[in-house]
Amino acid sequence: LEIVGAPIFNEKNMLRGAVLVIYDITELKNLELMRKDFVANVSHELKTPITSIKGFTETLMDGAMNEEHSNEQFLEIIYQESNRLQLLVEDLLTLSSLERDGLQLVITEVDLSSLVKEIVPMIRHQAEQHQIEFHANVEENLFIQADKDKVKQVILNLLNNAISYTPAKGEITLTIEETKDFLQIQVRDTGIGMSLDVLPRIFERFYRVDKARSRNTGGTGLGLAIVKHIMEVHGGKITVKSELNKGSLFSVYFPKQV
Ligand code: ADP
Repeated sequence: LEIVGAPIFNEKNMLRGAVLVIYDITELKNLELMRKDFVANVSHELKTPITSIKGFTETLMDGAMNEEHSNEQFLEIIYQESNRLQLLVEDLLTLSSLERDGLQLVITEVDLSSLVKEIVPMIRHQAEQHQIEFHANVEENLFIQADKDKVKQVILNLLNNAISYTPAKGEITLTIEETKDFLQIQVRDTGIGMSLDVLPRIFERFYRVDKARSRNTGGTGLGLAIVKHIMEVHGGKITVKSELNKGSLFSVYFPKQV
């Protein structure tokens, strides 16, 4: 709380009272804190790959170049870290454009069934590479008024997470169906799951249940924040159920056209 006060005097200059104005600045302070946190997080996330790229380049320049084996290894790391930087910057730009021009979506009638058919082969291939079984149960003729690229991003982010956090021999199921008021997209996996206490935080920017693991799987920590944002600007919502070592179920709901 911020309090601003002033005394009130009468004509004879005697104190008669005071005015106090009390501002509730909790929300402002929270926003300010979140913004500072965000900048600190972004800087840290950018710094890590940059340090690594710089370090390995310097080592190469210092003469490791003569050893062919380590050359290749170092170049591979530099390449991977540059990819990481690129993903991070892309995700950051997506987030900021959602915040700034959230209302400038390119809304068209999107055929969800055919959109999913566009991405299923790629996802199936990725899942197979990780020895994960992939199933898709998608009804035909499901239409929503939405920004097609953004819808695609929602489904891809959820499926990519499912692949990242599901060990070999696991299963992932994508289900799309119509309910009374919504088109419901669900991604279920039999992966590592999450405990109840972390669930409220996973949609925060850069929040990761296990930082090291997430980095290894190439995640930026921004995927679910982006998904949540996209659902909000579409007037939809996202929910999650999960159990540690059992798996997770992410559900997103797009309002049906009226
Ligand atoms: P990341 O790039 O780290 O995957 P996200 O924003 O997509 O970032 O997800 C935030 C965190 O939520 C992840 O780091 C991970 O710990 C957890 N998470 C997301 N999806 C799943 C899932 N399907 N199973 C288990 N944990 C998940």
